[in-house]
Amino acid sequence: MERSFKREAESLKLGDGDVFEGEGILAITKALLQSGVSYVGGYQGAPVSHLIDVLADSSDILDELGIHFEACANEAAAAALCAASINYPIRGAAVWKSTVGTNVASDALSNLASAGVRGGVLIILGEDYGEGASIIQERSHAFAMKSQMWLLDPRPNLTRVVDLVEKAYELSEASNTPVMMEFRIRACHMHGRFATRDNRRPAVSRNALLQEPDFDYDRICLPPATYAQEQHKIATRFPAALKFIAENRLNEFSDGPLSDIGIIMQGGLHNSVIRALQQLDLADAYGESRVPLAILNVTYPLVPEEISRFCAGKRAVLVVEEGQPAYLEEAINALLRKADLQTTVVGKDVLPMAGEYVAEVLLDGISRYVEGAVPAGADLAAIGAEPARIAAIKAKAAEVLGGAVPKRPPTFCTGCPERPVFTALRLVERELGKIHVAADIGCHTFSTLPPFNIGNSVLGYGLGLASSAAVGPLMDRRVVSIMGDGGFWHNGLASGVAGGVFNEADSVLVIMNNGYTSATGQQYIPSTGKNFRLEPTGMTIKGALEGIGVKWVKTITTYRVKTMMKALRAALTTPEKGLKVIIADSECQLARQRRIRPQIREQLKRGDRVVRTRFGVDEDTCTGDHSCIRLSGCPSLTVKPSSDPLKVDPVAHVNEGCVGCGLCGEVADAAVLCPSFYRADIVQNPKPWDRSLDRLRRTMIGLLAGTGAGAHP
Ligand code: SF4
Ligand code: SF4
Repeated sequence: MERSFKREAESLKLGDGDVFEGEGILAITKALLQSGVSYVGGYQGAPVSHLIDVLADSSDILDELGIHFEACANEAAAAALCAASINYPIRGAAVWKSTVGTNVASDALSNLASAGVRGGVLIILGEDYGEGASIIQERSHAFAMKSQMWLLDPRPNLTRVVDLVEKAYELSEASNTPVMMEFRIRACHMHGRFATRDNRRPAVSRNALLQEPDFDYDRICLPPATYAQEQHKIATRFPAALKFIAENRLNEFSDGPLSDIGIIMQGGLHNSVIRALQQLDLADAYGESRVPLAILNVTYPLVPEEISRFCAGKRAVLVVEEGQPAYLEEAINALLRKADLQTTVVGKDVLPMAGEYVAEVLLDGISRYVEGAVPAGADLAAIGAEPARIAAIKAKAAEVLGGAVPKRPPTFCTGCPERPVFTALRLVERELGKIHVAADIGCHTFSTLPPFNIGNSVLGYGLGLASSAAVGPLMDRRVVSIMGDGGFWHNGLASGVAGGVFNEADSVLVIMNNGYTSATGQQYIPSTGKNFRLEPTGMTIKGALEGIGVKWVKTITTYRVKTMMKALRAALTTPEKGLKVIIADSECQLARQRRIRPQIREQLKRGDRVVRTRFGVDEDTCTGDHSCIRLSGCPSLTVKPSSDPLKVDPVAHVNEGCVGCGLCGEVADAAVLCPSFYRADIVQNPKPWDRSLDRLRRTMIGLLAGTGAGAHP
């Protein structure tokens, strides 16, 4: 990665008597070290990339403790890593973004859950659900239920989270079952503090190697062992888990004066529920609730006795469960009926079935629940007034703004190397007609948004080419698939390219080779050229393509729009059959800027000559039709009022954010737009010959413009 996490890594060294202060995901990383893990692996993705990034920068700690760290090729590989805990008393962890990562990992997870584990296994899931999420909206809960793995959803409090990570390992070992632990975006980025413990040196590690391999057929996922494994899950592991959860009080229960009602919630939603209760004057500033609470830090399995005990004597309970289906609500309903308790279960009837439970949603749902339940001792008039007060504020704000606030869709960074590819594709479409484009996951998915609106489907990470396999042969022209270099190594090489070559796909694949998994924080991938230990890999995309038989491969620098158009045109029209691959090659601009800015600062400090390129628009030439903006989409290419009173329309303008990638000039040339773009080289710490050249230029311009020697605007 181009960003260093060395400073954060230092906090992983804290021991007994120290206090950690920082971000939730870093606290989880520290908790793993305190739990004595022998290995950690994972695949990057929000909101848990930070865990991998920090460990990748912590070689000294990992080496000292003998922990094996693996930057896995994908989530399936990360789940498969946990096989080490099937036979041996070795603790380990795998981490990824869910549910997409869990989808990819699910084959290995099913097998892991069936075989069972001797050493504790913790799967850390970045539950990317809700308004800040970047993926399809589903829940990890289903995976836990179907494979009989336990799912923790900790209350967002760093001390509690760290305790629960350590308890999760004990639970895993007590029930011989992998444990999943989900963290929402808010919990991962929440800041707090906790008293640390010394890191625990694992009994088996790279510094203390296993002496003998273990063979036990009962742990192999092949019949008849699989039949016994299923029985073992139900007869032994499940009851052992229930016993451990209850005895160790992993769930939390509190009483309150409004004792005829209660709220049962996923632990991860505790802070938001408390905030809503505070606004309704049902909790104090310290989070003490007047309504009894059941905080489910373990959402699967539920402990029937705990639920019955909490609900006994209550007229109604509210289940606060984010997302759908309503697994908890239905399970609690069934548990209560079996226990012959008549407590009314309220849930999705006052809270939305889909979407994130932000504080405002909870405020509305909880107030409706309390108003309906009519608990003895509650001021119902005050409770109903709060949502109405907030609705009035919002209405007033909308009135002042004169309507809804405009949406701000995400887009490529300024100077992004992927943008020119879509400009070229747009221009080629003008010649060849509309093209079906199978899009993929990565920064390039922004092509589906304005101004490009390119991309007809998105099926999964690295699945761009595979998702064109049926539409391609059914279309009267070739289709184009997009794939990032991250997606290529994640599974695109096997599921897309190998499948395409094997099935003789006659289509076009564009691989964005920007050097990293850019969308997740510029982590290194095989074609970066080095791994996280900075050891050379010698792996290239072109080499991999040629190795599996792709014959038509062209590597094009993305910023050269005309050359990219030529390559696309050739790939789309050549009589040559088979897969045509264009490697669109240029470094991620965000990573590049992070890399060169400190270097430039150093050069300037030393007094070295530094040249910075910027582009600009000649206001006198700009006609104001803004084709350049529609074809480039660069956030630095904007508009400003014309200083010419005869020009009514605003003119194009390049703002200070320009990184000088040159795309706007290339677009103007390739699309034959007005010649209003100019390139300027800004020289800092100029040398004498720079000054002489500048004087000469000013003189010549002055003479040509008739404004006298040396004149300059
Ligand atoms: S992170 Fe890199 S690849 Fe992604 S949009 Fe920004 S510049 Fe482009
Ligand atoms: S050169 Fe043009 S496209 Fe590139 S960053 Fe500057 S304004 Fe944007």
